[in-house]
Amino acid sequence: MICENCLERFVQALTKSEDTSIAAQYAFEEIADRYHIRKVVMQFVVKESLYTRGGDKRDKVLFQASGEAEEVMAFNREFVTGEGGTVNFYLYCTQGKEGFSAEEERELDIIMNILFFHCGRWRLINHVKRLSLTDSMTDIPNSGGFLTHVDKLLERKELTRYNAYYFNLTRFSLVNKRFGSRETDTVIVRYTKELQKFLKEDECLGRLGGDNFVALILKERTDEFLKLLSGVETYAMQGNQRVPLVISAVAGVFEIDERVVNCGMVIGECATALNIAKHIEKKPYLFASEEVRRRVDKEKQVASGFVESLYKGEFKAYYQPKVDTETYQIVGAEALARWEHEGRLVPPVEFVPVLEQNGMICMLDFYVLEQVCKDIRDWLQKGIEPVRVSVNLSRKHLANPNLAEDIMNVLNKYETESKYIEVELTETVDEAESAQLVDFMEKMKDKKVALSIDDFGTGYSSLNMLRSFPVDVLKLDRTFLNSLEENDRIVLSNIIRMASELNMDVVAEGVENWQQMDYLKKMACKVVQGFLFDKPMPKEEFEEKLRVGRY
Ligand code: C2E
Ligand code: MG
Ligand code: MG
Repeated sequence: MICENCLERFVQALTKSEDTSIAAQYAFEEIADRYHIRKVVMQFVVKESLYTRGGDKRDKVLFQASGEAEEVMAFNREFVTGEGGTVNFYLYCTQGKEGFSAEEERELDIIMNILFFHCGRWRLINHVKRLSLTDSMTDIPNSGGFLTHVDKLLERKELTRYNAYYFNLTRFSLVNKRFGSRETDTVIVRYTKELQKFLKEDECLGRLGGDNFVALILKERTDEFLKLLSGVETYAMQGNQRVPLVISAVAGVFEIDERVVNCGMVIGECATALNIAKHIEKKPYLFASEEVRRRVDKEKQVASGFVESLYKGEFKAYYQPKVDTETYQIVGAEALARWEHEGRLVPPVEFVPVLEQNGMICMLDFYVLEQVCKDIRDWLQKGIEPVRVSVNLSRKHLANPNLAEDIMNVLNKYETESKYIEVELTETVDEAESAQLVDFMEKMKDKKVALSIDDFGTGYSSLNMLRSFPVDVLKLDRTFLNSLEENDRIVLSNIIRMASELNMDVVAEGVENWQQMDYLKKMACKVVQGFLFDKPMPKEEFEEKLRVGRY
């Protein structure tokens, strides 16, 4: 019978390490003399399957005795694996020991079984490790895999050679809507493959899920990589048709320096930059910097202090008149939020995007609407005839199915006639939002509250909006007035004409000089709003303007 001590030590040596390929060397050293073993080779063959892409075929030397001697294959044992593959163990002995007794063969058989069992355990551990670090859809590292890579470079003191990126695909939900989730997954896989082609050794691309990716790219290749991210050509299949797609991404970039001491900082820094690039600056990329960090701190302050400031009455509705281009009469006004905070008048750019992001903008909009209704009631009580005041509504409100009712409740609370209120919304490309928008617009029409499309011409669906929405007013974005070149003139005059044929009013925003004013007049634009007449002003000042009624 096999020396029990030997077998025990063989098993112990194997069990000590998770990696059978390393442990086998020590294990066989325990029994090599007894069986004259010189070499043990494992041959592993697995067919392509769900778990083993492309199959697997490997020869591995598990044990090699020291010293030189002639080796002869003396024993072979084949096992069938769970995936329908095979594992063959070949045992080589010193010449002269080619044959084993029946007893010895039984013992070797036990040893091979133990070895096979350990190989299985080892493969399983490796498989789970790999899965836990890999994104199953794209077969690239997931967040854990990416961070493991970062850690490795950090340990090697090579991390500072790289920039880290966190990027998100632009308007990717549209791809999802158009092609469905299954094809969208395939598009992501294709996109990933294109990016992988760019990678050099030790650069890394990871997917965090959805359309969020991270990357580690050599610093000298920053421009090249950003250029790649600005548009990767791929395609989607629609039936049998190949629809070309250009996928762009918004990225936060972090220039890694010596201050980085752990891998967590890397993703954190670029995530912050991405967030600002995407939601606030609306830029294709942004480098993380001291300034970005300060901004984030400031935004956190805005978010945390907002509710208290609102209750303290620090937010005010300012009014900017809308003026008739023929008579110079004040025919309306827009209510714009201002924050009187610590002796400073904070403009909307500093708080609206932050509040948009955390959803608190809805509170602000209703607060402004209440202020406006109160002011209108006040003017009426003083015998001043108000004008129609437009209030900005964030598109975030569209998720509220009771939006129209909520608005009417405020109007009713202050007994405000609907003719005095107009709501401004910006255009949308989102189909679900469009459906909600139509529903909301119809309810507003029903209640005779006017509705305007703000910043018209800057969105993506301008003409569609005109076709399918019951809009009362188009507010032309002020960028139309930036240059009055031939092409702009043609576009502008046609929008104005179209709007009038569709029975919509047009208000030109951002009119700053008489040249623009004359030009708009010529185009038959009837109402303007801009610094040429007045900037947004507090209620009391606007009240005086209302008393006079014209410029
Ligand atoms: P908006 O709704 O398009 O408002 C027009 C903006 O253009 C206002 O900026 C106004 O002051 C500015 N403006 C008017 N005439 C001129 C001009 O002649 N030249 C220039 N350069 N600018 C002019 P403001 O008040 O800073 O507001 C910026 C944006 O913030 C608004 O754009 C609106 O989108 C948002 N906002 C303001 N108040 C609110 C609010 O209560 N709720 C929501 N949801 N958004 C608001
Ligand atoms: Mg507006
Ligand atoms: Mg506007």
